[in-house]
Amino acid sequence: EGFLPFQHEPYFDYSNLEIAERQRAAFARIREQGPQNYPLIIGGERVFLEDSFEVRNPADPREVVGRFPKARGEHLEAAIRAAEEAYATWQHSDPLQRAAILMRAGQIFRARRMELNAYMSLENGKNWVEADGEVAESVDHCEFFAREAVRWAAGKSVSPLSYEHVTMTYEPIGVVAVISPWNFPSAIPIGMAFGAIAAGNTVVLKPASESPISAYLFCEIMEQAGLPKGVLNLLTGEDSEMGDPLVDHPRVRMVAFTGSREIGCRIYERAAKVQPGQIWLKRVMAEMGGKDATVVCADADLEAAAQGIVAAAFGYSGQKCSACSRAIIEDSVYDQVLDRVVELSRKLVVGLPEDNADVGPVIHADSARRILEYIEEGKRTAKLVLGGERAEVRAADGTVLEGGFIQPTIFSEVDRSSKLFREEIFGPVLAVTRARDWKHALELANDSEYGLTGAFYSKDPEKIAYARRHFHVGNLYVNRKCTGAMSGTHSFGGYNMSGTGAKVGGPDYLFYFLQAKTTAQKY
Ligand code: GLU
Repeated sequence: EGFLPFQHEPYFDYSNLEIAERQRAAFARIREQGPQNYPLIIGGERVFLEDSFEVRNPADPREVVGRFPKARGEHLEAAIRAAEEAYATWQHSDPLQRAAILMRAGQIFRARRMELNAYMSLENGKNWVEADGEVAESVDHCEFFAREAVRWAAGKSVSPLSYEHVTMTYEPIGVVAVISPWNFPSAIPIGMAFGAIAAGNTVVLKPASESPISAYLFCEIMEQAGLPKGVLNLLTGEDSEMGDPLVDHPRVRMVAFTGSREIGCRIYERAAKVQPGQIWLKRVMAEMGGKDATVVCADADLEAAAQGIVAAAFGYSGQKCSACSRAIIEDSVYDQVLDRVVELSRKLVVGLPEDNADVGPVIHADSARRILEYIEEGKRTAKLVLGGERAEVRAADGTVLEGGFIQPTIFSEVDRSSKLFREEIFGPVLAVTRARDWKHALELANDSEYGLTGAFYSKDPEKIAYARRHFHVGNLYVNRKCTGAMSGTHSFGGYNMSGTGAKVGGPDYLFYFLQAKTTAQKY
């Protein structure tokens, strides 16, 4: 089909001073421009509204980085109508054309990566490395879905008959509502929206209000890449106005959601209700979080394990659903691994994402408050071995910043019954638990309502074989950290309360946005 073999987009090497300088310059250019007023995008039209909300820099909430409209019911109706109208033709579009648009979008992303990284950093507090990893993942999604669009269009073979010609083909389903979170404001909505579009559906996207700039920018890029009007519509505004009404709408065929378990369960329930005028059962794709564990066996490369735990626990301040929030370590090496984890974590610099500090702020004050409550709970029920407080970070002018900076925090001797062990905290807090032996460690790891990612460190092939079968997670990582799935390689999604099990970036993903048609034709 004219594709080169798929290759992952390489990350920038920021130790190269020239590259680091380019990244700094991208921040400076955005600052020079000042905060922009962004519109809704409905059927290709830009809609600006007086009634708007501000997007603030999580590191320094005094800084406004953009303003977005608060859409109302009429805009939601218009967006769904635009998506439906576009669907009439887009559903029959040539998959090669869809692929060409996605490939072109990937090229534009590549050309604008420094700028996209900087915007993301300013809206959601990712440091350079985290933002860059995510924008590279966005490029990978474009490249991967382009190939997948063509692959699925070929259909599948079935047992032939001598007297009939039988085909199995896949058709799109309709308007997909995409509701996305702030922690991956580019790669996650792109996964869901471009997945839907690659399959021939149209989309109404409602990004999280904390970080809609990345979403606006990729809508613009898709337009530049040649996506017809109305295929991708953007709504921003209050969740009360744009959440339930979007999910409940009878013309929405599917809801694709990534976010909290609470909202995911709410969507699942609401979408099950057949509304007046609705002639299908809605599909729901929900990805809802984790309480991911790293298991360390006594025979493991303990240094690699400690490094993997620290990177996965504190990267982006632990605000990934893939983050390692539990380290479960075999008794005989517990103290040694814990000491090393503490030692490595102590070296992490808490500071400005814009300076590429290791650990930045959490998303907003509410989140900081919630995380600090968990920390207080931990102080009562476990042993605090590192952090446990807010961190003081100063602006260039010396003032103490009001962003939610929290020290990397580690609790040891965490009991399986405690909240720290059971609930998703979504912050820089690691619970360390002692296991009698490696099987006990695995049993503890599986003692969770979630099942998203897990890491298992051992050199013993028998233990690894056992873990491969019995570690109950959608993404199992052996002898490596449990974050950083790559599109096209590590199909991403989890078990149980982690969601509906769609695996973004994997070979089955587009199927979630398709329906299968059998056509039998008599000769
Ligand atoms: N795909 C990301 C990873 O593997 C996590 C996505 C999420 O936090 O939702 O780290």
